[in-house]
Amino acid sequence: MYSMGSLPPRSLILLIAGITVVPLATLVWLGRRLLEQDRVLEGQQVQQRVERGADLVVAGLQRALSVSEQRLAAGSEQWPDGAVAVAFRDGSVEAYPGARMAYLPVVQPLREAPEVTFAHGDELEFRQPRRDHAVNVYRELAKASDPAIRAGALLRLGRNLGNTGRNQEALATYAQLRAIERVSAGGAPADLVAQYARSKLLEKQKRWGELRAEAQRLRSDLDSGRWPLTGPVYWLYAGDAAKWSGGAAPGGRQAEVFAEAAGVLWERWNWMRPGAPASSGRESLAIGGQTLAVLWQRSPGSFRALMATPGFVESQWLPAISQVAKQQRMTFGLRDSEGKMVFGTLLAGEAHQATRSAAEAALPWSVVAAGIGQPGQDSDFAVRRRLLIAGFLLLVSMALAASYLIARAVSRELAVARLQSDFVAAVSHEFRTPLTALRQFTEMLREHRNLGDDRRQVCYEAQWRATGRLTRLVESLLDFGRMEAGARPYEFEQRDCAELVRQVVEEFRREARTAACEIELVGNGTAEIEADGEALSRAIWNLLDNAVKYSPDHRAVEVAVSRRQDSVLIAVRDRGIGIPAHERAAIFAKFRRGEQARTRRIQGTGIGLAMADQIVKAHHGRVEVESEPGQGSTFTILLPAKG
Ligand code: ADP
Repeated sequence: MYSMGSLPPRSLILLIAGITVVPLATLVWLGRRLLEQDRVLEGQQVQQRVERGADLVVAGLQRALSVSEQRLAAGSEQWPDGAVAVAFRDGSVEAYPGARMAYLPVVQPLREAPEVTFAHGDELEFRQPRRDHAVNVYRELAKASDPAIRAGALLRLGRNLGNTGRNQEALATYAQLRAIERVSAGGAPADLVAQYARSKLLEKQKRWGELRAEAQRLRSDLDSGRWPLTGPVYWLYAGDAAKWSGGAAPGGRQAEVFAEAAGVLWERWNWMRPGAPASSGRESLAIGGQTLAVLWQRSPGSFRALMATPGFVESQWLPAISQVAKQQRMTFGLRDSEGKMVFGTLLAGEAHQATRSAAEAALPWSVVAAGIGQPGQDSDFAVRRRLLIAGFLLLVSMALAASYLIARAVSRELAVARLQSDFVAAVSHEFRTPLTALRQFTEMLREHRNLGDDRRQVCYEAQWRATGRLTRLVESLLDFGRMEAGARPYEFEQRDCAELVRQVVEEFRREARTAACEIELVGNGTAEIEADGEALSRAIWNLLDNAVKYSPDHRAVEVAVSRRQDSVLIAVRDRGIGIPAHERAAIFAKFRRGEQARTRRIQGTGIGLAMADQIVKAHHGRVEVESEPGQGSTFTILLPAKG
């Protein structure tokens, strides 16, 4: 109806919402599907990358290992820390470097002087204990040029001296014996036996400090692989040496692990058929909690193997491969035959993994490769996904903005249509009142031919007012139409403002005589203005008309003309219903009517103020309004004064 901008009907809102929601939902659904597919694709690509990476790791390891295998086949004796090569041939074992093995599966026995050499001395010592004589016999023999005889004699001499309490001499004798190398005495290397015997003697004498020093020396000699020993001999001496020196008990040390592994390989070699064709292999061997990588080569008469610790693998074989893995943005790990991860740190949660078993890779370990990072972090895909999401967001916001604009445009159109139909209704109403009056008085004149002059005069006056009102209504509508089209020509001339206002008020008084209102003209200010008399009169008239219309109880209207600096002010004040603050700006728009005008059923078309505003603007002025609901309003036209 007359509202100041209402919402479109519910059905329209629902329709627009429906039109927006369905494509939006489809768009969102499509977007989600697209992102899901993208993610799957990314997963596939990462998997492919990891598979390729696993193959590269395998190839890299193959290369690194075959370099070592070539050196092994060539019989290289120099190996970096952490590896030992062993060679088995005709019942003998060689280790390179030998010092890295605590003991060997078999050893070539060292030369030892035959028992008969010492038969005489032994008889003096044991059968008829005449130790002094035995000592002399051994002293003589200890001068022999053959180191084996010398060693056997010194060992026995030391024993006799010790047994007779001549400890100091015994220690010196063993010290002499310690200097003889590469011969055996009492079934073990002479220098080893000498060190051991000295330690025993020191223990017997409770000379702990010296014992510890002697035992440490024995221990380090054992560790350095100075003597070719078998396992049982090594463990016997190593056990006592550890006890005396206060060091850790033997077992689990690198040299011991190598020795044990060599023992395993030796057993296997002995089980092999001697005539079997040449073969080679790579495997991992778990010994004493450590996993050794073993490369072996067998030819009909010999067997070679390289045993490598994890440290060796890491420093010699893996560096180049780690580089490859980094380039491929993946990590990798190596598992031994028992499934234990020997190298690399593979996170359990890696979604994309590729495995190559030891058998298919022909390596000592199985290889596991994994992509670095979580799915969704691959940079190319992430960029694409961000673009995709941004695109979708743009589309969604564009769709939302478009439907908002459509809803707004539609509701505006509806409001204008409503205002126009209201206007037509209001105009018809405006016309009806004077037309009814005209008809009534015309009828009276027609039917009562012999009316008195006074009554006739009243009828004519009423007809005059009604036609005047109709004329003004039509003219103002035509004028409004012309103004809207911008086709209203203004003819400006110099006018006295107070005079012009007085004329309008006069005319209005005459017109509104029946309306029982008082129009008071106050103020004495005046000025010349440039004005189109007819147009400005209409503007003032509209204000007067409103002042009367919207003052149903207080029909006293005050019109004042005054000067303020360069402006002339024409103020029209009433004590009527007033205008609420939120309507004060809107009422100057065409067809706009106030809430009160509507509810109180006060006639009007909603174009009066719009016209007044346009006319005053054409005069380079403006219309201001002050109002207090229930107290009244003052509309003031401000115009530039001319002189
Ligand atoms: P109308 O034909 O409705 O009077 P106008 O453009 O002249 O159209 O006025 C617009 C609206 O401004 C009116 O509907 C009314 O609500 C409000 N208005 C104008 N003048 C006054 C006034 N003197 N006192 C109270 N309200 C007024």
